Amino acid sequence: MAAPSIPSGVQAGTPGTVLITGTTSGVGLNAAKAMVDRGWRVVTANRDPVRAAEAADALGIDSRQLNHLRIDFGDLESVRAGVETLVGSLSGELDALVCNAAVYKPRLKQPERSPQGYEISMATNHLGHFLLIQMLMESLKASSHPSRRVVILGTVTANSKELGGKIPIPAPADLGDLSGFEQGFQAPISMASGKAFKPGKAYKDSKLCNMITTQELHRRLHEGSGIVFSSLYPGCVADTPLFRNTPKAFQTIFPWFQKNITGGYVSQALAGERVAQVVADPEFAVSGVHWSWGNRQKKDGRQFNQELSDKATDPSTAERVWDLSMKLVGRSEAES
Ligand code: NDP
Repeated sequence: MAAPSIPSGVQAGTPGTVLITGTTSGVGLNAAKAMVDRGWRVVTANRDPVRAAEAADALGIDSRQLNHLRIDFGDLESVRAGVETLVGSLSGELDALVCNAAVYKPRLKQPERSPQGYEISMATNHLGHFLLIQMLMESLKASSHPSRRVVILGTVTANSKELGGKIPIPAPADLGDLSGFEQGFQAPISMASGKAFKPGKAYKDSKLCNMITTQELHRRLHEGSGIVFSSLYPGCVADTPLFRNTPKAFQTIFPWFQKNITGGYVSQALAGERVAQVVADPEFAVSGVHWSWGNRQKKDGRQFNQELSDKATDPSTAERVWDLSMKLVGRSEAES
């Protein structure tokens, strides 16, 4: 699919302030570097801000351009407290938001629960970020930056329009009839569909929710606010700590396989640069797009608008995911 056209009036690369979640390692850390290199101020949100500062120092990011905030995205109370601290201390504006933090726990035998009783990957990857977005929307609307953006990390394994999204190990992403969410998503329920717990699928389902959220944000809020909402697949960044809970042999074989067999491997630095492009570059000022550079990396390969599955784009499913997520994070429509 061809890249969509860029709206007129978008100024090239105006620096601003961006909040990035999950910057102790991997894509988020490298995105923070790429944003600072573009002259942006970066507020990081991590469960351990000291580790975030150490990781940023180790990568040589200018600490004068950084502020570190404590938020555990698996805990809705921590999200509320972190946002209150942020909004209370923001001297300038918040111009962009990157929802990046995530956990992948494919070897859990039993669901791990958040303090609110929700399955931990859905709680961290989707619900914590869903609440963050809701709570920061007024700040983003108030920003006078020429191109305000919300960027959410999606993935190929949750998009059945791509080969990686069809892999049945343990099962493709599928929210079913959403009865798990509808019934309150508390024990014994652990999946959005209400079906049996599959830890690898719980991750894929949470990333499907991330991409659905982007589409629904675009439908509900882009026209009135002018904010650009997009998701992206940065490529297979096969050597990040995201895979720390997989078997040791997998952690060796997977990067090798992606580098030498599929050609899907992307370095952490390039993945961070791609996130920064989606946040800051004029070419990406198009709302409702899921950006990808493809599953086989080509030298000088260009971004394109990757088609998403019906599960990610169906408006009635998205409306239900939105309404049920609002309930699960304790928000009313009046607050949105
Ligand atoms: P990493 O594990 O390197 O980074 C994840 C970040 O999220 C870390 O900073 C981690 O911090 C943070 N985090 C995890 N749990 C929490 C929490 N409860 N509260 C706050 N922060 C938390 O993974 P990647 O860089 O690979 O992944 C980043 C994003 O990119 C994810 O959304 C992932 O789904 C997406 N993605 C990754 C791909 C890949 O191939 N790696 C491919 C496609 C998408 P801590 O050190 O505290 O755990």
